[in-house]
Amino acid sequence: MKNRLKLALWLLAATCPLVAQEVTGPDGKLKVVLDFPENGQPTYTVTYDGKNMLEASPLGLKTNVGDFSHGLKKTGHEVKPIDTTYRLTRIKTSEVHYQANELAVSVVNGKGQPMQITFRVSNNDVAFRYTLPRQGETGSVRVMEEATGFRFPAQTTTFLCPQSDAMIGWKRTKPSYEEEYKADAPMDVRSQYGHGYTFPCLFRVGDDGWVLVSETGVDSRYCGSRLSDSEGGLYRIAFPMPEENNGNGTVEPAFALSGSTPWRTLTVGASLKPIVETTVPWDVVEPRYTTQHDYRMGRGTWSWILWQDGSINYDDQVRYIDLASAMGYEYVLIDNWWDTNIGRERMEDLIKYAHSKKVDVFLWYSSSGYWNDIEQGPVNRMDNAIIRKQEMRWMQSQGVKGIKVDFWGGDKQETMRLYEDLLSDADDHGLMVIFHGCTLPRGWERMYPNYVGSEAVLASENLIFNQHFCDEEAFNACLHPFIRNTVGCMEFGGVFLNKRLNRGNDGGTTRRTTDVFQLATAVLFQNPIQNFALAPNNLTDAPRLCLDFMKQIPTTWDEVRFIDGYPGKYVVLARRHGDTWYVAGINATQEPLKLKLSLPMFEGLKTVSLYTDGKQLEPLMKEQKLKKGNVAEVTIAPQGGIVLK
Ligand code: CA
Repeated sequence: MKNRLKLALWLLAATCPLVAQEVTGPDGKLKVVLDFPENGQPTYTVTYDGKNMLEASPLGLKTNVGDFSHGLKKTGHEVKPIDTTYRLTRIKTSEVHYQANELAVSVVNGKGQPMQITFRVSNNDVAFRYTLPRQGETGSVRVMEEATGFRFPAQTTTFLCPQSDAMIGWKRTKPSYEEEYKADAPMDVRSQYGHGYTFPCLFRVGDDGWVLVSETGVDSRYCGSRLSDSEGGLYRIAFPMPEENNGNGTVEPAFALSGSTPWRTLTVGASLKPIVETTVPWDVVEPRYTTQHDYRMGRGTWSWILWQDGSINYDDQVRYIDLASAMGYEYVLIDNWWDTNIGRERMEDLIKYAHSKKVDVFLWYSSSGYWNDIEQGPVNRMDNAIIRKQEMRWMQSQGVKGIKVDFWGGDKQETMRLYEDLLSDADDHGLMVIFHGCTLPRGWERMYPNYVGSEAVLASENLIFNQHFCDEEAFNACLHPFIRNTVGCMEFGGVFLNKRLNRGNDGGTTRRTTDVFQLATAVLFQNPIQNFALAPNNLTDAPRLCLDFMKQIPTTWDEVRFIDGYPGKYVVLARRHGDTWYVAGINATQEPLKLKLSLPMFEGLKTVSLYTDGKQLEPLMKEQKLKKGNVAEVTIAPQGGIVLK
């Protein structure tokens, strides 16, 4: 459509109140229609290419200033195109060009109180939020409840992670986004704990397409939200549970006026491609501060994953520093108990030793606090600004480069404020931050320049804890590239080359997946700092092929492309680092998977290197011929993997 005609249509819509309020993405396929019935509930509907992806779904919120959830009257609206570019080295794509149409609708409630609802619609993403201006003398607001919902068509099936009860599990540390997903489940079953589901939430709208629901831009000015259980296909925004954070802190977020709620996001497509490739969590947020530090991304080793608590001593840490050095890795992560088991004085020597091997150091901390029963030290150093800044000054004086802060209290605004305060203080001291036992990051890679990772997933530690998770490893790994990892970096801590997951490689749980499967996850799972689960014995007992691969694997990516797959069954995707494309695939089914992969990123090449499983499932590297149209015919073994590069 010519720009002038577009403008004319907008003007027509703007002056004609009877036209249903709608906005489409730049290519016209994704469409949102808003409706404000008199005395009724305001709704929005989402279609893609003429197909119903979200039926009329409620909008609005109830606050202690006024009720903005029904009988809203439209008083005006504005549509404007958005066209921005930004660079970000810590997400799936380094250069982003975001193009969308923004619709801002002004409404008043029955008492004449104003609110604005903003929708940004790009080709495959919808982001929307509410903005409340100052209400006369009233300059602050508490949100008691959101009406916001997502009503899916009847044929929809779900790929969801239940929200846990609060204050349960290890040392009463839950919820921490570490529950098990169900794939292709019907909408009308109760969630495991009856508390709905944590973001992001994936829906398959029958054969019509896919929708990923999440939120972004959550900081100290709101709580983290989740989806409720479904009532006839309607999932609503739910606030944290009162029991979270040991019952302390309100579940009702509050902010100063004028102010906005976080962006709720929908990524919509006929295939899974837009979901794997989406950048909407970062497109609609802004940096909260700039940094004067030059943070270096990279790979690390950590003894705790295989050698556990017993390895937090000087000599074992030296062995993992030496492992990092031998692999050419940038970091070592020294996990819980270092403060008592090694002690601060000897830690200073250990950090000096690491530096002598050109390895930089991350240190583990507990976030707590009064919200769990954690004994692992250091405790009570990160929850209080006075002590936290002392601690960070000490780390900066020792040349420590980052912290991993574990065991958070939930999703209340209280806790979101602590995440933000900690990130801000850490940046003052040149420290990068990884969160564990934590919430989902919500746009944080762009908002906080020193934020480098969150767990918020059933991560590698579970493979050590329980054989069940080894048995389910391939299934879970085939979910994350479509769900958890699409909206934020994921500190999984994986790539085991031990067959047996204990210190001697001779006991404990048994890995079911192949070595090449493990290598493939180094590409499939994205986090800008990767702490890999390699052990010192792997330098002599692991295949050279695998070690060489792990020595050169990057952790930052310039581009991602969805190639093929189905959540929980198999996944093939491509990531580019500089000029090098890595195409990685894994198979969670019981049968060998024969695939014809169309790989336009290899245009001009006749052959590429293929890492694959041999007859005895041993890792092999061979030449892979590319057929006409850059097609590679490959077979992935059950619980096996491939990497083409
Ligand atoms: Ca954990």
